[in-house]
Amino acid sequence: LVRLRQRLAGSQGGFGRGLLALLSRDRLDEDTWESIEDVLLTADIGVAATQQVVEGLRTRMRVEGGAAPDARTALREELVKLVDPAMDRRLQVSGSDGKPGVVLVVGVNGSGKTTTVGKLARILVAEERTVTLGAADTFRAAAVDQLATWGERVGVEVVRGNEGTDPASVAFDAVKDGVDNGVDTVIVDTAGRLQNKAGLMDELGKVKRVIEKQAPVTEVLLVLDATTGQNGLVQARVFSEVVDVTGVVLTKLDGSAKGGIVVSVQRELGVPVKLVGLGEGPDDLAPFDAEAFVDALLG
Ligand code: GDP
Repeated sequence: LVRLRQRLAGSQGGFGRGLLALLSRDRLDEDTWESIEDVLLTADIGVAATQQVVEGLRTRMRVEGGAAPDARTALREELVKLVDPAMDRRLQVSGSDGKPGVVLVVGVNGSGKTTTVGKLARILVAEERTVTLGAADTFRAAAVDQLATWGERVGVEVVRGNEGTDPASVAFDAVKDGVDNGVDTVIVDTAGRLQNKAGLMDELGKVKRVIEKQAPVTEVLLVLDATTGQNGLVQARVFSEVVDVTGVVLTKLDGSAKGGIVVSVQRELGVPVKLVGLGEGPDDLAPFDAEAFVDALLG
């Protein structure tokens, strides 16, 4: 948690701290409120959410006779409300009836999908779960090799096909392997070619169907690069229209000054951010905690 704070505060404390500085001014005039709005919009929180926060803050900061309310407390409460601490962020990694849980990981190439699969495997293994990985991103030999390296590093089996093998057949084999060996969780890396919606729908739909012949898909994680801003949101929407996303993994938050994307992606898709990527190392994946996140933003 301390490390999460350091990483977030190091790179993007500016957005929370900037707001706090504005809100702590003696006089909150219209110019100040406009600046507050600009900071929120620049952080990728989105127009509707920005209006909501500004309204909330204006109501709270209206001085009624006595001393002005504490700006930090007011801002913290508004931001926490926005990130929605009530969302269920638990990962569904367990199957039922002796079958493994299956985690399907989707997202565009370069978003950090393969890295996330590796890091997630590491977390589950540390929790003493048994894990098998499926390298169903068969369009890129490099992605398969990369996952194989993660498998060696974490000490889990990686089921792979040759380059160009049907992704669904690799996904099938990986889940079959998991069922046969009685593992707890199978994590399937998928291809992220955003060629067109119909193609993607065909491909991911087929992958999901063949998996479900053997074991339930318990979690569909959409990996999103936090540095891609509004463009990333458009892509996220396409994926969510193609497959029932159950959680978002926001990667590269360490390199983004735009932590506000947490808010906009949750609003856009109606699903919680469950994990955040905070670096390229094996330990740089953390469960998302709304309150810790806001505290980190405020520095
Ligand atoms: P994929 O194409 O979606 O499978 O993406 P990769 O897993 O290959 O990741 C693309 C690049 O992003 C790699 O260089 C990763 O090391 C890097 N990366 C992934 N997650 C993070 C993160 O949370 N922070 C940072 N800084 N880099 C990341």
